[in-house]
Amino acid sequence: MKIVSKDRGVYSFSSLHKPVEYVELGEPIILEIEDAVGGQVRSEDTPLERIDWNRVNKATGPIYIEGVEKGDTLIVDILDISVASEGVILVVPGAGALASKSFEPKAKIVKIRNGVAWFKDVGLLIKPMIGTIGVAPERGHIPTGVPYKHGGNLDCIEVCKGARLYLPVSVNGALFAAGDLHALQADGELCVSSIEVEGKILLRFNVIKNRKPEWPIVETEDHYSILVSDDDLDKAVEIATEKAVQALMKAKKWSFEESYMFSSLGVRIAVNQVVDPKKGVRAMISKNLISIHDLLE
Ligand code: CA
Repeated sequence: MKIVSKDRGVYSFSSLHKPVEYVELGEPIILEIEDAVGGQVRSEDTPLERIDWNRVNKATGPIYIEGVEKGDTLIVDILDISVASEGVILVVPGAGALASKSFEPKAKIVKIRNGVAWFKDVGLLIKPMIGTIGVAPERGHIPTGVPYKHGGNLDCIEVCKGARLYLPVSVNGALFAAGDLHALQADGELCVSSIEVEGKILLRFNVIKNRKPEWPIVETEDHYSILVSDDDLDKAVEIATEKAVQALMKAKKWSFEESYMFSSLGVRIAVNQVVDPKKGVRAMISKNLISIHDLLE
């Protein structure tokens, strides 16, 4: 099986990056992932002012996927995620939901034993997820720290083992990359980091030809989530709601008014994160109500 080293990575999503590996549809591939801090904080004594912020949030790739072209949907099956036995969580003044408060930059090393992460005396079951995952935009560079329509720094807790992600493809081969593993994160990612950890992911790609979603979609066991990012959290909720209502209109042949009414009953909104350059939310709709095709343009 092809294994891509964590050394082969990028700090932006761009059509100008040369692929580091090529895969066929259906061919499993392993990506090694560096932690989001670039392995620069392995001790609580590391002076955080020495962090090189140009070396954070590296995404392994890009991978060229054969048979995938502009205008298609890239399907990413997350078959497995394994993480190292310790990670790090950071607070940095000026960052996170309490960015305006006064506090010290601090790092905490979090040990992971038998699937449990220990924050001081509190043990939490880990649920490893991929924070940054995406494809190249049509033009320009999007830094890996930014979430948007191409994916990127989504920091969505549902992007975990067993999930299927649908990404809109803007360039031939998709130029897929992923990084920023979290051993555990809660919705919001309030302090700006979660348990940042290195590890490996096992993926398999597939395609839907000639149709794509406007925003990334995650499929879980029982629902689809539309992942929307915007500078403004309220605006992100508005766009996610509109997309969910449009999917219901299409799937159920309901009017706008009926679909909008139903959104209060059958569409759940959750916050992915409030700490990245764009804020992220998800609108969740049961798979009993819609199919993936109702979410494609
Ligand atoms: Ca992140």
